[in-house]
Order: sequence, then C-alpha cells, then structure tokens
Amino acid sequence: MKTPFVTRDQLEAICQTYPTPFHIYDEAGIRATARAVNKAFAWNEGFREYFAVKATPTPQILKILREEGCGVDCSSLTELMMSERCGFQGEEIMFSSNETPAEEFVKANELGAIINLDDFTHIDFLKDTIGYIPETISCRYNPGGVFQLGESKEGFQVMDNPGDAKYGMTKPQLFEAFRKLQGMGAKHFGIHAFLASNTISNDYYPALAGQLFQLAVELKEATGADIRFINLSGGVGVPYRPEHPANDIAVIGEGVHKKFDEILVPAGMGSVRLCTEMGRFMLSPNGHLVTRAIHEKHTYKEYIGVDACAANLMRPAIYGAYHHITVMGKENAPCDHKYDVVGSLCENNDKFAVDRMLPKIDRGDLLVIHDTGAHGFSMGYNYNGRLRSAELLLQEDGSVRMMRRAETPEDYFATLVW
Ligand SMILES: *Cc1c(COP(=O)(O)O)cnc(C)c1O
Repeated sequence: MKTPFVTRDQLEAICQTYPTPFHIYDEAGIRATARAVNKAFAWNEGFREYFAVKATPTPQILKILREEGCGVDCSSLTELMMSERCGFQGEEIMFSSNETPAEEFVKANELGAIINLDDFTHIDFLKDTIGYIPETISCRYNPGGVFQLGESKEGFQVMDNPGDAKYGMTKPQLFEAFRKLQGMGAKHFGIHAFLASNTISNDYYPALAGQLFQLAVELKEATGADIRFINLSGGVGVPYRPEHPANDIAVIGEGVHKKFDEILVPAGMGSVRLCTEMGRFMLSPNGHLVTRAIHEKHTYKEYIGVDACAANLMRPAIYGAYHHITVMGKENAPCDHKYDVVGSLCENNDKFAVDRMLPKIDRGDLLVIHDTGAHGFSMGYNYNGRLRSAELLLQEDGSVRMMRRAETPEDYFATLVW
C-alpha cells in the first residue's frame, strides 16, 4: 500500500492558498533519501551523488540536496545556470550532456564543472570550443548489446538496450579517447555509463560497477591514465506499483563495495572515488501531483475528469507508465469502481489511469498521484495552452512554501510577437 505524505485535511488547507493542480514535495523525505544514499556509500572516500537536475529542476530542492552534500549533474545551459545560482561550483557540478552546443561547453568550463564527453568527436569539438582540454575529464562508455540481469529474488528482470542508445563511446573509441586526451594535456580521468533505466533490482549498480571497474583496470593498464573517479550515473528505480519491492540503497552500496574490493583494490586502484547521478531514486517518491475531480462522465466507460492533465505529468501518456492514485479521505474505502482518470487535453492518451479500480470518486474529491517528484513537473509542456502548475514544498516543520508559482496566461503569451 502506498501512503501519501500529506493528509486530506492538510491538502484542503493548502488548497485555500494554492488551487489545484500542483506538485508538492516532501522535504523530510528528500533529506532522508539523500542521507541513506550517502550512508550506503560512506565506505568510499570522496563519494558524491550528483543529482540529475533534469529530473526536478527546482532551486529549493537543489539547495536542500546541496545541504545534504550532493552535487548536481547538468545536461544543458539553463541547468548549469540554475546550479550556479544555487551555489554549486567547480567539481560539485558534473556536465553529462550529448549533442552538446558549443556555448554549453563554454559555460560548463567557466564554472569548473567536470565535463563528461559523450563521443570521441567531442574531444576536438571541446578543444576547438574552449581552446584546450581540461586537466580533469570524463568519458561516457556504451558497451553496446543488451544489458540483462537475471531475475531477482522478487521475480523481476532488468533488461535494457544500450546497443540501441545514442549515448556514449564504444570500447575501442574509449581507449583511443583516453590516449588522445592524454596527448592533449588531460591528467585526471573519469568513466561514466548509464545502461538501464528505472531498475527494480539491488543488483543493477553492482553489475554495472563490476563492468566499469574491470574496464577501468584495463584502461589503466593500456594507457597508464590516472583514473580518479567512476560514475555509475542514474537508473536506480522506484516502485511505482504498490506490489513492486523497493530497492534497498544500503544493499546496493554494499554490492558495489564488494565489487570494488574484488576488482579495484587488488589493481592498486583503491582510491578511485565513486559518483552517482540519480534523479528518480532521489526524488520520485518524495513528490505528489495533487488534482481535483471536476467531472464524471458515463459513456462506454466510466471517466473521472481531473484538473491536471498530461501537461503536468507526461509519463503515463508517453510511456504508459503506472502512477498510483490515492483518493484522499477514502483511503480505507473498497476499490470497487473501475475508472479512467483523465485530463483535459485533446489527445486521447491524456489518461493518468486506465481501468483502475478505485473507491467511488465524487466531484470535488482530491486525488494524489504518487511518485511524481522526478521526471514529473520537469517534463511539462504547454499543449492546448495548458499552463504549468505551482511547485510547493512541505517543509520539515509542516509548513508549506511555494517554490514555483503557477504560470499565468501572461507567461504563456510572453514570448509571442503579435
Ligand atoms: C537522466 C539521467 C540521469 C538520471 O536518471 P534517473 O533514471 O532519474 O536516475 C543521470 N545521468 C544522466 C546522464 C541522465 O541522462
């Protein structure tokens, strides 16, 4: 069972000031998650989680994570600018982008960020853009093929398709890149890879780490490069469905530790520091999309129309993703009604739930859509002239703080030339 981090009474009180729909985030949950991650990797000196800004690009959240010792992983100019304004600097910033415009390399370099090159050709592109190769540089690896983990104890399988992904360098390119970069003045190296997304398995990071540690040993032997850090990137999943087991970050940290001791330590590489770039794991469960039922429609199916739409949360529309729904105040009522819960877009995939068994919903009921803290608000868009919602923070003392106001029609019109 999934329990919201706010009660109906709290939400009704919040709605007096901030009308639905809105995204709300749980400060205590965010801090607890960050602390659990740091604890799980405390055995690795210099470990840092670089929060993937694209998951939740909201300054107050970035500042909370900074207080918890996290850095940021940026993928664009505006993310770099936002991170700078939140106080991140130098090696607290990882810049992992692809098909990177020149001005973004310039900005990343100006901030002293660690630049993670997605492709072999970006070496020359970076040199031509900023005039030199930074002393510290990272390269993104793509092993190709299919990444597969056997079934976990819970019966889940992890499978993804790096060979079909546009990111990263092949193994021969990676070796060539290290040699070329050394020739151009690079002194300290990092390796990065992202092979599977939303993994529900405590084995993903350890399996990835095993591959990358082995690769690091080979790279060091072949090129003599001074490899300072290995970046496990994102991909640690969350249980969107109530029946899915949650990943245990402590178990994951120990699994990586074991690979570290087996592979890197005997190779004399025990001082390599680890990085992660989790977005989803850090934030998803710590955010809700709150919306109100405003219509019910009975045609060939039973529809509940809500005041949020796919423009506020795109994942169900584009991935068919499951997001759990709690009808507030009816937590203990039987789920004996089958509904499609839909938004207002003129687009038939604008459905938060299809054939979902829920308690009887009445107009005016508040619905919490769970696990929207990452890749939720941030994927928003303005189709049908729909406006982006507010983002609120439920602070540790129980008070609510607005982190981003809702868009107004003036915002929507602001860029138009009439
Ligand atoms: C999206 C992304 C992440 C975060 O992925 P999650 O699935 O949210 O953990 C990390 N690193 C890079 C390079 C990404 O593109």
